Amino acid sequence: MVRIQALDVMPSRGKPQFFPPDDGNEGKLRDMGGPQTTPHPYHGRKVALATKHQKERSLGQPLKHAVGLKLVVPAGLDTDLLGTFSGEVDRKGTPREVALQKARLGMKAAGLTLGLASEGSFGPDPRLPFVPADHELLGFVDDDLGIEVIEQVISSNTNFAHEAARTLEDLTDFLRRARFPSHGLIVRPNSGLQPGFLFKDITTIEALKEAVEQCACVSADGLAHVETDMRAHRNPTRRAVLREVAEGLGRRLKSVCPECGTPGWGLVDVSRGLPCEWCGGETELVRTEVYGCPRCLYRENRPRSDGLEAASPGDCAWCNP
Ligand SMILES: [Zn+2]
Ligand SMILES: [Zn+2]
Repeated sequence: MVRIQALDVMPSRGKPQFFPPDDGNEGKLRDMGGPQTTPHPYHGRKVALATKHQKERSLGQPLKHAVGLKLVVPAGLDTDLLGTFSGEVDRKGTPREVALQKARLGMKAAGLTLGLASEGSFGPDPRLPFVPADHELLGFVDDDLGIEVIEQVISSNTNFAHEAARTLEDLTDFLRRARFPSHGLIVRPNSGLQPGFLFKDITTIEALKEAVEQCACVSADGLAHVETDMRAHRNPTRRAVLREVAEGLGRRLKSVCPECGTPGWGLVDVSRGLPCEWCGGETELVRTEVYGCPRCLYRENRPRSDGLEAASPGDCAWCNP
């Protein structure tokens, strides 16, 4: 699996925090009969999760485990109004904006001041152009503290793929890559959407054959467009990546700002210019990771979490033009 972003959150040192970090002193305090660990401010709090596709199955456990949040899924919420993968509704705004809008829809429906929503995008990996990637983003809103927290993962662990086919036989290789039938498929005419010809929830070979034949028949080029269903309830691989990003959000909410104590301290930006190990010139690679607070303006520059201090000459515009 390829990890593009370093999302590890390190406990900060030497600054006051109202929530005890895992600095190893916890055990000592307990031995001395000292105070019990203060529960995290989110412990036992309800957070509205806007989802139509059972994402609570992937996101619930990691967030409960990390900070004690309880997910509540408001009934009857149609998050498809903000866009669908299968293209019936275009998504408006960046994934970050869409996730935050969805979180707010859920908060309103549930009458809660905490909200959560996820937004997935699929396509070529920005660093490995021929490898598909799953970019998962989680948006968390706390209207009591007035904060928005974003956590994301780019993972090459995805079955994302599509294929144009005339018959079922054309799909033999594709079906293996798509991890069918444990993962669902969506079929439509290859020449574009036509009313009545969008087949979702395909999980059997019989249903697939039927859908391919019908869509190929009405398509201008005689082909059916078959694509992996990326909705969480039809895609176990995506659910694994959702769990991963929820674990990242859990770590981030557990980390508090060294200045103001607000939860959600973590990686917010990077600065580039890692020096080349031959000539010392600046490269496009990340030099330092910028950690920040979702509430105050406090920032800290930190060395790369993977320990890399110099770029290889292959990444240098001078040494390898
Ligand atoms: Zn160089
Ligand atoms: Zn702060």
